[in-house]
Amino acid sequence: MATFKSLGLSADMLQAISDMGFETPSEVQEKTIPILLQQETDLVSLAQTGTGKTAAFGFPMLQKIQVDSRTTQGLILSPTRELCLQITSELQQYGKYLDGLNVVAIYGGASITEQAKKIKKGAQIIVATPGRMKDMIGRGLIDISKIEYCVLDEADEMLNMGFYEDITEILSHSPKDKSTWLFSATMPKEVARIAQKFMHDPVEITVGSKNVGSENVSHEYYMVSARDRYPALKRLADANPDIFSVVFCRTKRDTQKVAEKLIEDGYNAAAIHGDLSQNQRDIVMKSFRTRQIQMLVATDVAARGIDVDDITHVINYQLPDEIETYTHRSGRTGRAGKTGVSMVIVSKSELRKIKQIEKIIQKTFSQKQIPNGEEICEIQLFHLANSIKDTDVNHAIDAYIPQIETVLKDFSKEELIRKVFTVEFSRFHNYYKSAKDLNVTASQKEVSAGKQYSGNSVRFFINVGRKDGLEWMDLKDLIRELVQLEKDEVFHVDTMDAFSFFNVDAPHADKVLEAFKGVQFNNRKVELEISNEKRKKFGGKGKKSHRGKGGGKSHRGKGGQRSAKGNHRKGNRPETKGTGGKRRRRR
Ligand code: ADP
Ligand code: MG
Repeated sequence: MATFKSLGLSADMLQAISDMGFETPSEVQEKTIPILLQQETDLVSLAQTGTGKTAAFGFPMLQKIQVDSRTTQGLILSPTRELCLQITSELQQYGKYLDGLNVVAIYGGASITEQAKKIKKGAQIIVATPGRMKDMIGRGLIDISKIEYCVLDEADEMLNMGFYEDITEILSHSPKDKSTWLFSATMPKEVARIAQKFMHDPVEITVGSKNVGSENVSHEYYMVSARDRYPALKRLADANPDIFSVVFCRTKRDTQKVAEKLIEDGYNAAAIHGDLSQNQRDIVMKSFRTRQIQMLVATDVAARGIDVDDITHVINYQLPDEIETYTHRSGRTGRAGKTGVSMVIVSKSELRKIKQIEKIIQKTFSQKQIPNGEEICEIQLFHLANSIKDTDVNHAIDAYIPQIETVLKDFSKEELIRKVFTVEFSRFHNYYKSAKDLNVTASQKEVSAGKQYSGNSVRFFINVGRKDGLEWMDLKDLIRELVQLEKDEVFHVDTMDAFSFFNVDAPHADKVLEAFKGVQFNNRKVELEISNEKRKKFGGKGKKSHRGKGGGKSHRGKGGQRSAKGNHRKGNRPETKGTGGKRRRRR
């Protein structure tokens, strides 16, 4: 196997590589670095996102430039500000032992004077977005007439974004005899055209197939409300009994928390993140490799080193901040010719990120439903049936069989099957029998919610009030429990004698209407309506009854007869989220 050293990298570079914890070169690095180090050539390198292309051009460029000169020798064009900053910081790390190295990022939306100042100090390498770069060249703030190396990174994306003209313009200010290195995940016609126009007889390197993302990974998303992420995760795990997965969270804290909850709920889970010592991480990884852990909850950084094949599912418990990171995550599955699934748990507000990711990975997601309790019970039962079928009998059990047979002698085969399966069935059934539907329905709803209910929040009228023994706090609790809302998602709760008002954010309005359907309180049907009245100033949270004029006049009379006061028992509360029933530890 190739090592970074065998690729011809210098000691400075090797030291930085080892500091960063890179152990072996990736395929694109292995194929690209030696060529770029040894030859002055143009090059086209096609490899999917997350395969380490930055280092593939970064190391050779850093090694080839003269750090003791202040002339700009290398230019890297990249499509977005984020990538630009990312490449800059990677190059700074790679080149941290090169004294005097100055890598400067040039991108729109920031002070042009500041950037010009940095360039003036002498930047050997400039990493730029095409728009700003063109602008600065036009103003005479940057001189690229002496560059020797030019990288077109994510060329397909740059062209998608309409930078063809800018790139042409920029390159017209650069010397003809430079080396141009083009990196791209895909090779559409436009990229081929650019290669033809700006390059001479380029060496071509292709890693994997020419398409982005592994062909073997399918992408799914599940839309739930943000607070249902965890129960949704559990259901996904329960619906996939043989799951062997990496669960990605955004922060170390969430990573730890989710792993702890899973362990508490009887799953074979563990966390891996930067706050663990190297030793702890090694232990976790060892248990994962040997399948003692089925669900490894990880941060993006910690997951970089995970080189485990056979991962069946990648679960995005939260989407990454940088959507580009998604590719790295999903690439943890579908390796070594196996198929894999990358699942994303999203809330409505994150839906647009799915669209953005689709553009990057050039694949479409299918929207899937979080399975309900019944479906999970069914899956688990058939899983049990099949594992019984496939189990090789352990003969160590033989000695006990006569006795066991005596205990069970009165039962027929049918009865035995029923009993055995009941054991498994009951624990899931008991757990899931009162579980609610976690799916949040179509995004149109949200759109229509916005239209239907003008403003950001919706005010409701409800025909229960203080005569039912409800002060505003009681009512708020009741609503929250029933609709499953957070503390600050129900507000402006004003209780009168026979009726009350409250507000929720517009996107929750449909859920409120839904949740109150058929609900009884004190043996009376609860009536709930959207109120068109604006909230009036209520003295001291509805201590005063607003008879006569005031909010809710139009609803007068709907409040109907009240029933016996103080008959507000817990038992009246509608059933909420299923809890209890822990899972047995899996093996
Ligand atoms: P690409 O440009 O192909 O999308 P990047 O260059 O951004 O990929 O690299 C993806 C991630 O992998 C980066 O975080 C980078 O630091 C890391 N990385 C790159 N090469 C290696 C390696 N040989 N070993 C471990 N991690 C690497
Ligand atoms: Mg890149």
